[in-house]
Amino acid sequence: MALIVQKYGGTSVGTVERIQAVAQRVCRTVREGNAVVVVVSAMGKTTDTLVNLAREISPNPSRREMDMLLSTGEQVSIALLSMALQEQGQAAISLTGAQVGIVTEAEHSRARILEIKPDRLSQHLEEGKVVVVAGFQGISSLGQWEITTLGRGGSDTSAVALAAALKADCCEIYTDVPGILTTDPRLVPEAQLMAEITCDEMLELASLGAKVLHPRAVEIARNYGITLVVRSSWSDEPGTKVLAPPPQPRSLVGLEITKAVDGVALDADQAKVALLRVPDRPGVAAKLFREIARQSVDVDLIIQSIHEGNSNDIAFTVVKPALTKAEAVAQAIAPALRSHPNHTEEAEILVEKRIAKIAIAGAGMIGRPGIAAKIFRTLAEAGVNIEMISTSEVKVSCVIEEQDADRAIRLLAEAFGISSSVIQSGQRNEQLPAVRGVALDQHQAQIALRHVPDRPGMAAQIFTALADQNISVDMIIQSQRCRIVQDTPCRDIAFTVAQADLATAQGVLEPLAQSLGSGAVDVNADIAKVSIVGAGMVGQPGVAAQFFEALAQASINIEMIATSDIKISCVVPQAQGVQALKVVHEAFGLAGQTAITVPA
Ligand code: ASP
Ligand code: MG
Repeated sequence: MALIVQKYGGTSVGTVERIQAVAQRVCRTVREGNAVVVVVSAMGKTTDTLVNLAREISPNPSRREMDMLLSTGEQVSIALLSMALQEQGQAAISLTGAQVGIVTEAEHSRARILEIKPDRLSQHLEEGKVVVVAGFQGISSLGQWEITTLGRGGSDTSAVALAAALKADCCEIYTDVPGILTTDPRLVPEAQLMAEITCDEMLELASLGAKVLHPRAVEIARNYGITLVVRSSWSDEPGTKVLAPPPQPRSLVGLEITKAVDGVALDADQAKVALLRVPDRPGVAAKLFREIARQSVDVDLIIQSIHEGNSNDIAFTVVKPALTKAEAVAQAIAPALRSHPNHTEEAEILVEKRIAKIAIAGAGMIGRPGIAAKIFRTLAEAGVNIEMISTSEVKVSCVIEEQDADRAIRLLAEAFGISSSVIQSGQRNEQLPAVRGVALDQHQAQIALRHVPDRPGMAAQIFTALADQNISVDMIIQSQRCRIVQDTPCRDIAFTVAQADLATAQGVLEPLAQSLGSGAVDVNADIAKVSIVGAGMVGQPGVAAQFFEALAQASINIEMIATSDIKISCVVPQAQGVQALKVVHEAFGLAGQTAITVPA
């Protein structure tokens, strides 16, 4: 007999009819020979309604009382669903988070799960009952028995954590969309359903998939090897399978208190090529990477910082044996780039053979500011200079000098409390598609600190100051060009933040820039970020080229580029964001015929 955890979101239990339909599906699953645990959210928009009620009483209600209030939403739906099951002849019992032993931190409104003690739950399952559990809530330990909630969208987390604790065979997430889609169908009508996606891809697509599946839940699934299925509660379509790597033995204590960073990696087999002062116009990156792909050279990191005057720097890394070829391509196309009539500056090519790439990775860094600052601080304190920085949702990669690599990796492993691992670059997996999905983020703004003195510790100070204001940063890129300002070599550091954080960030950075002796703080809120994600792009030449080419053909200028191993992101002008999303989605053959409608 298989054990299945099914989670139903708010719209799936939004009305009495929907609750009855859920009960039917649960009964069917039992008839098929499975033991079933059901986790439910509050009905429809109940949680929002409760939040608004509280606001009418107090502009700043106590978090404890908010938890007391919000946890009632789920209690309504578990009781009603249990009744519906019993009405259909199925033995069932509803239980609160506390009753199934979901023990959390004593952090109201954002508690993480420490441990689950499912003895009572298991006993009811043995009695042949369906157990209906309230999602989103738990109880604090340390003898206080306070009701806690896990943060908005937390019932996904409850479901997957229960599946881990019960060693369930599968966890099904029922929602109001058919599964995970290749992009946002409200922007691109040709978006298609994915049959499968890996947990790592899902995490890099957090901005695309977060509404369907909470990243915290994906992280637990990945850590405990739980297969997730995301599917519609309105149909019997199979939905999308979210694939987890094979489970590793792992304690269930501290279940969710994972470290923000859970992997440190060193790749010493890297060399860098930088093209300085290439023209800032559509098609330049496309041309460069098309020629490189034509030589079957796989590029790893690619970065392009924001332009200076009317030119850009583009830098990339390749495996050391491919350096000669890559450099030859760069040399060959540089004159063509230089000959552009509006472009008077000289392009320059820099090659660095003695570099290494170090990276830290972890799903826990999503929405947790300060991780990038910590890596930069750790390297700065050890006097390690960072040559390239590229960040994504769940990864920060830095290129440093080869001679510093071993020391750097040891210090980072120590700082983040993990055992280090060494990865080989370019592990190609032909089974996986190069691009699984395309995402657009229209809520980011770009900030550039000009002429930051090029010495260890600058990035650390900048990102610590932002983290202190609880501001998450994304796409951090350090320019390649070194400028001498008043006898000091300087570089630009550019990154993106949420538009909502822009004013605060500016307020912190203006005075900081002064004290660091750097130049202006330039901001631009009229940007959009387009990303492609796919585990199959690792070790496969030409994927970046195809991405840049699609943008070039639509005359869209790339303002910034950052990559991680399974993701490439470009900042483009905001007005062209949706068009960029469409052309890139199309270019990778993701567009299909079936119209997919999703609720607004
Ligand atoms: N009811 C909670 C919320 O609306 C938890 C959930 O639905 O996942 O955030
Ligand atoms: Mg939800």
